[in-house]
Amino acid sequence: METQTQSPSTFFDSQWDDEVADGLDPVERLVYRSNLLGSDWRITNTGGGNTSSKLHQTDSLTGESVEVLWVKGSGGDLRTAKNENFASLYQEKLIALQNVYEGFDDRGPKTPAEDTMVSMYAHTTFNLNPRPPSIDTPLHSFIPHAHVDHMHPVSCIAIATADNGPELTREIYGDEIQWVDWQRPGFELGLALQEVCQNHPEAHGVILGGHGLINWADDDKECYLLTLRLIDQAARYLDQFDEGQKTLGGLRHPVLDEQSRKSVLVRLLPWLRGRLGQKARMIATVEMSDNVLDFVGANNAAQLAELGTSCPDHFLRTKIKPLYVDWSPDVDNLDDLKSRLDDGLAQYRNDYAAYYESCKRADSPAMRGGDPTVILIPGVGLIGWGKSKSESRVTAEFFKCAIEVMRTAEAVSTYTALPRQEAFDIEYWALEEAKLRRMPAEKELARQVAFVVGAGSGIGRLVTQRLNKEGAVSAAADLNLDAAESTAQELLDRVGTGIGVAGTGISGCADVVGLMVDITNRASIRSAMEDVVLAYGGLDHVIVTAGIYVSSDADGIIPDKSWEDSFRVNVTGSWLVADEARRVWDAQGLEGSMVITTSVNAVVPKAGSFAYDGSKAAANHLVRELAIDLAPLVRVNGVAPATVVEGSSMFPKDRVMASLAKYGLSYDEDESTELLRRRLSEFYAQRTLTKKAITPQDQAEAVFLFVSQRLGKTTGQIINVDGGLPEAFLR
Ligand SMILES: [Zn+2]
Repeated sequence: METQTQSPSTFFDSQWDDEVADGLDPVERLVYRSNLLGSDWRITNTGGGNTSSKLHQTDSLTGESVEVLWVKGSGGDLRTAKNENFASLYQEKLIALQNVYEGFDDRGPKTPAEDTMVSMYAHTTFNLNPRPPSIDTPLHSFIPHAHVDHMHPVSCIAIATADNGPELTREIYGDEIQWVDWQRPGFELGLALQEVCQNHPEAHGVILGGHGLINWADDDKECYLLTLRLIDQAARYLDQFDEGQKTLGGLRHPVLDEQSRKSVLVRLLPWLRGRLGQKARMIATVEMSDNVLDFVGANNAAQLAELGTSCPDHFLRTKIKPLYVDWSPDVDNLDDLKSRLDDGLAQYRNDYAAYYESCKRADSPAMRGGDPTVILIPGVGLIGWGKSKSESRVTAEFFKCAIEVMRTAEAVSTYTALPRQEAFDIEYWALEEAKLRRMPAEKELARQVAFVVGAGSGIGRLVTQRLNKEGAVSAAADLNLDAAESTAQELLDRVGTGIGVAGTGISGCADVVGLMVDITNRASIRSAMEDVVLAYGGLDHVIVTAGIYVSSDADGIIPDKSWEDSFRVNVTGSWLVADEARRVWDAQGLEGSMVITTSVNAVVPKAGSFAYDGSKAAANHLVRELAIDLAPLVRVNGVAPATVVEGSSMFPKDRVMASLAKYGLSYDEDESTELLRRRLSEFYAQRTLTKKAITPQDQAEAVFLFVSQRLGKTTGQIINVDGGLPEAFLR
């Protein structure tokens, strides 16, 4: 097949590297091509689109060469896809399924016969590959060319949603690209594409009405370059009509400056999160890129928002439409915004129920939540909501794409959304429902936001990891910003920053941010909490593990400054953190918790450490006072460790050696700090009832219990995690 060579592209440059590709086997080349295509949001959205190659491989059953369709399976994202994200299927058997389909009397788009075919794909599996094939499989199989790319590019969706889409397609591409009217992806769409290939052997692809682009070639690199060129051709064509916001009817509401936007959001987000999260909490992502700000402030924003998104991938996440609030941006008039949001939410829920009622069929699944996942606020931007950070981020990304689609479609023609019934038939498709049901159960702390103070080392670091493992998103805060960021980065390195997508079975990424906080400074605490609110939309749990240990000097005297520091950090610090978190908790109106790390020293007086011990005794009582003060919304508890030496910044080498000397244990100054810490830790272990060394993990486990619902009815309590010290028993 011949590929047209165009002048060098200005929008989409090829990233293909022959040196890399030539060192790969055919399946790896498919993965390589997919990763390149998935790395640009203008080419395809996160989790959207798919690619395939028909390859000749040896059948282990017969030893013969057979044609195998490798096609991106259900779930997974092209940008990060690996070999295991691709299904492998006997091409011959897939084609033979057409005979099976012919055997149904009642067949056609959206018939039970068509849906039945989906369960047949697994029967064509080659080599026991466990990856489930996607519903787009027949689109790839029935196109009689070796390589097929199906993308959701902004420029092509704009054409696919323009009301004169077929004419535009012809004008831009001539005979090279054909048009197929909107049809839900499935067996019938595969047959329609097969027919296009038969009737138009000269064609290289199809614009799928209301949906996107699919194109093919017999060489993989050629297919990749073709995909780029076709997207580029559409983008260049549309670019001549681009008039920015003028296309959207011009300016209605001005954009607030960055500081004012932030000021609105930090006050609004917790309140809004509370409004949306009465049944199940949500995590937010704020999007304030120029195209979003232009859109929300435009005259036509309300009318376009009401039409909703089109590409099925888009509206499955953004819902049938976003909630647009017609608020005149005014940083001093948040009450007006809130009351408009309250009205808007009520209206949205009514509209959603009406949409469900008018479109539902006899066998439709029950109505799902009727809250918006995208909220548009003039002057401020777009807020995406989801059950995880990654889901809300993808939702925000999709609406950003949808805005580009609407704007460019409006520039050249008139934007058309998918008919409501078609949208409903996708949203409540039995196959979508099955996908949702297959998703793994949510983790225990999913949808919850934790703010961990002292996360740069020791217990705080382990607490961040522990809560994250249970599904919480967290802010790792520390006086030492580098340490906080390293805790965050270490976690991200371990769990990855891969993007999870609702309904695709991709697990969500465990997000964590590193922040600087000085808990002796109210302004610093407030600023850190504002960052948490901007990152996630609110705050559920606050854990304070920061503390300092001061001891008396050689003459047994504690300097005044050390005494003050001890109380300033160990007591006042926790109080200030609680008092600032209260603002967020009150605005949200959702249940939360606070855990303060105290110490068994609070009840065990010891010579030389009375400033520390006294401050921890005060911290114990602060737990009780706060439990009363913050009830019923927030539970407050304390974890009292004893002698957690391992990895503790409170046990620098000097202190460890001093302790070893005190107990008559041998040491050498040249030994490593960790080695000395272990020796001391072992010594302490022998003084406990359980004879076990106490680790930061042990403390993190207790914090998790308090934060979770496992101890959901306990407040005002201190748990010792000390290996068992009778003198520290609370009574
Ligand atoms: Zn698609």
